[in-house]
Amino acid sequence: MKKRIGVLTSGGDAPGMNAAIRTVVRTAISYNMEPYGIYRGYQGLINNEIEPLCSASVSGIIQRGGTILKSARSQEFKDKEGRAAAIANLEKHKIDALVVIGGDGSLTGALALQKEGVPVVGIPATIDNDIACTDFTIGFDTAVNTVMESVNKIRDTASSHERIYIVEVMGRRSGYIALYSGLAGGADSIIVPEVPHNLDQVCEKIQKAYRAGKNHNIIMVAEGAQVNGDQTNPSVAVSKYIQEKTGMETRIVILGAIQRGGAPTVNDRLLSSRLAYHAVSLIHQGKTGRMVGEVDKAVKSWELEYALAQDQKLDMEYYHLANILSSI
Ligand code: ADP
Repeated sequence: MKKRIGVLTSGGDAPGMNAAIRTVVRTAISYNMEPYGIYRGYQGLINNEIEPLCSASVSGIIQRGGTILKSARSQEFKDKEGRAAAIANLEKHKIDALVVIGGDGSLTGALALQKEGVPVVGIPATIDNDIACTDFTIGFDTAVNTVMESVNKIRDTASSHERIYIVEVMGRRSGYIALYSGLAGGADSIIVPEVPHNLDQVCEKIQKAYRAGKNHNIIMVAEGAQVNGDQTNPSVAVSKYIQEKTGMETRIVILGAIQRGGAPTVNDRLLSSRLAYHAVSLIHQGKTGRMVGEVDKAVKSWELEYALAQDQKLDMEYYHLANILSSI
């Protein structure tokens, strides 16, 4: 009997997930395995939303954001009984191994499955770039390109009206989206959770620029930054501080869900395709309980448990560069 391989997407969707699903399906077929799609993540696994896939099921999706397998969050799956129901469905369909495409929550769920006897390989996919053992997670590149384009547009109006704009971006506890899009978008200040910020310095920069004749300012704020003890509204806290300290009016833009959408960039399509190919190859070789990642252009894999225990460190070289370029 042919080996059967299941694939699911879980947690927050990320552009490039479809390109990864496509590669999982086609690589499995190339190894003479039978691919099965599981819809709505772990909740779909519990609800038995499982169907065979073929090469045609994944045609015309490489350029689409989101995920054709849908995504969901599942509280039930966090309990052993929920996972037992999921495992029973995998057994019912005689699925031998599972590819999980998702963020750290989803990969933590995958590790739980592996420990309970299901061979699993994880593919890191989240716009947040908050998973270690890979330079980038699937979806990050598209998200920062989207943010950068938004910053370009905000700058047009900021400079016309001579205004200070505070742009809040996603990333959960990570400052990667704020840092990369801020550096690429020419932001004046970047506030991230990983580095202590000094709002007085931000204000000084604004005033110094003002004296030099530059009357607009873009401040990137990561949603996970803690500003003056305010964990829920960092951009509002930054805005209040600047208005009180400088007397200047500020505007806030919270970019929100647009950061998740859109056609994946070249980088994300290539990353998805390479990681998914490697994931299925590992299953073909009988190596599971692993996460795939790309480091210095090489695709590798690590013990899932090890990878999840590491911290994805913010690139401080980029942070310092952004600081230098906006302080002169
Ligand atoms: P992401 O994968 O994007 O980080 P979540 O953190 O919401 O998104 O996780 C997605 C799903 O993974 C959860 O709804 C849950 O079903 C599963 N999951 C998350 N954490 C665990 C855990 N500690 N044990 C088992 N399953 C988990």
